Amino acid sequence: MDTLAGRHALVTGGGSGIGAAVARMLSEAGAAVTLVGRRGKRLEDAAKTMPKAAAVVADVTREEDCAAMIQAAHEAHGPVDILVANAGAVESAPIVATDPALWRRMIDVNLTGAFLTAKAALADLVREPVDEGRRVIFIASTAGLKGYAYVAAYCAAKHGVVGLARALGTELAGTGITVNAVCPGYTETPMLADSVADVARKTGRSAQDVRARLAHDNAHRRLVRPEEVAATVRFLCSPAAASINAQAICVAGGQA
Ligand code: NAP
Repeated sequence: MDTLAGRHALVTGGGSGIGAAVARMLSEAGAAVTLVGRRGKRLEDAAKTMPKAAAVVADVTREEDCAAMIQAAHEAHGPVDILVANAGAVESAPIVATDPALWRRMIDVNLTGAFLTAKAALADLVREPVDEGRRVIFIASTAGLKGYAYVAAYCAAKHGVVGLARALGTELAGTGITVNAVCPGYTETPMLADSVADVARKTGRSAQDVRARLAHDNAHRRLVRPEEVAATVRFLCSPAAASINAQAICVAGGQA
């Protein structure tokens, strides 16, 4: 049975939703984990539930925060072996109502944040001796592979994340580090609950109706569970996944 004992995983957005499920699963597999986000209390509460976990407050849109985040993680558990760049946010608007500020917020947190996080972590990840167990995993989205109406900025950012994963995986080949993007479909998290409430408010439909419509997009006719995304990340961290590199992997019930 493979184990992540002795590994150090850093998960951005680790205090909620998919990030919290990933952190929990990697911790259960034996990894020391560092949870990152802007809300410290939530991160600390989550960290307390895991045997070897640290909470680090950082805003991934700020380059100096990303450098400080890696330094704090390193001080807590030593060099990072596994990076899960998961932090993200979604705002919706028709394209004509998408002002440049909304556009920049989506690109900043979802794409530039992923880039700054990975760039800062590479200082730790690329080190001698070469080790085939190191990983960079971006949580992108099916919105990184296909278009959805009313979320052009988010889709553009997530397409960028998939491109970033493919380019970085190619660039780092031979270093022992694999780089992949995991692309969830609609997943049962606080982000989804906020989106459902937003669409219900804007359209006058009931929240139940909106959720049913989103679930219908999944061929299984249900929303994805955060643990299903986490299990894919866990598999990518295993030795069996050492040849999976520069790929975008959907966890979406056939949605994309
Ligand atoms: P969530 O519960 O809202 O998680 C988002 C996390 O990102 C939060 O923990 C948040 O923590 C953190 N975050 C946001 N902005 C940040 C910033 N500037 N710096 C640091 N951390 C930041 O939603 P989720 O659904 O689990 O989302 C996780 C990832 O999955 C996102 O990248 C999202 O785009 C992607 N995804 C979600 C779905 C879905 O249907 N839920 C589908 C496809 C892809 P703080 O607020 O404390 O900073």
